[in-house]
Amino acid sequence: KFLFKNVKKLPSDALFAIKARLAVDTRSAKVDLGIGAYRDNNGKPWILPSVKRAEEIIKADPEYNHEYLNISGLEVLRKNAARIIFGDSFDLANRVVNIQSLSGTGALHVGAKLMQVLNLNERDIYFSDPTWGNHYQIFQKSGFSNTKTYPYWDAASKKLNLTGFLNTIKSAVTGSIFVLHPCAHNPTGLDPTQEQWKVILEAIKEKQHLVLFDSAYQGFATGSLSKDAYSIRLAITDILKDVPVLVCQSFAKNVGMYGERVGCFHVVLPETGYNAEDKDAIQSQLNAITRSELSTPPAYGAKIVATILSSDELYKAWSDDMITMSSRIYEMRHKLVAKLVELKTPGTWDHITTQVGMFSYTGLTEEQVARMEKEHAVYLASSGRASIAGLNDGNVEHVAYAIDEVVR
Ligand code: PMP
Repeated sequence: KFLFKNVKKLPSDALFAIKARLAVDTRSAKVDLGIGAYRDNNGKPWILPSVKRAEEIIKADPEYNHEYLNISGLEVLRKNAARIIFGDSFDLANRVVNIQSLSGTGALHVGAKLMQVLNLNERDIYFSDPTWGNHYQIFQKSGFSNTKTYPYWDAASKKLNLTGFLNTIKSAVTGSIFVLHPCAHNPTGLDPTQEQWKVILEAIKEKQHLVLFDSAYQGFATGSLSKDAYSIRLAITDILKDVPVLVCQSFAKNVGMYGERVGCFHVVLPETGYNAEDKDAIQSQLNAITRSELSTPPAYGAKIVATILSSDELYKAWSDDMITMSSRIYEMRHKLVAKLVELKTPGTWDHITTQVGMFSYTGLTEEQVARMEKEHAVYLASSGRASIAGLNDGNVEHVAYAIDEVVR
């Protein structure tokens, strides 16, 4: 008998299934608002100019090679990655233990595995409702069986359900784990205000919950790295400074390193209460997780990001690149809404312009989304999430007409 006879077939990943359907769609007007990847105004992937420059520098180095990195990754990357997310003035040397990861997904995985080592996987873990779908599998596959949600998006008002969020923080078992999106929330594009973050983090502190920030879009909400790290910095320097905070960091979107898989997982230590041995022990656990799974992390993308972050000139160029990306998305939100208003499309659409980051939670129903695809060749997630980066001057009107038709 075939040893693998009873293997259960699982459903394909919804977003990658969209990609596959798009690839075989022969309609010339097809529009990809599925996967969250930046596209330029011609609908093409964009290699950031700062990245091109960094690649030239790396390849011109006479020492250039393909040697293994250390188990914990490229030192210059880890140091500078921590600097840009936690800020120049943060006590990086003492309070951060980190490791290079396979982008944001790998960082989440290392975080999940570390918590499993510490038996924290038995605790309840809370995700926003809705959240990036992969959160569930990443943690479930590392032994978290109690995955729960906190209210986040209020469908009626298209605003944050702060009351529901706070009530869940308060009613959760003390010491639960809360996964937070620090900025440019996926899928809703809706972030708490600075005032709301204070209230949320204070409530979390009160119940001694452990926070894991999943930072996949730093720079995409406002174009500014420091503004987009507000919630994280508020936690580690103020409200949660007496407890550890976990941070997953991806360079997929903000440096356009999607397929190169560059990221970091950070454990931010409390201000006091630990010693050098504790730090070493945590680092050794992170190293052991990576050693058994990757042996050593990938080098090429890490060198690119490290080169950008450690050069004043390239850092400046990269900051401009982030502004290019975030402002093009901003402009597309406005063009789409302007057209919907012009068409007198039923409903209100201003949420599309108030939402930030790569996505808009359009409010389109599953049936409407299906019709967008079937009749208009416009592809988006069945939840109604649209990757605004897929819009450009050549297709935004088509998308507006499509929305108009399906909601009437
Ligand atoms: N977290 C969130 C919320 C995301 O949206 C993504 C990307 N879609 C990730 C993590 C991880 O992405 P990557 O592994 O490509 O860095």
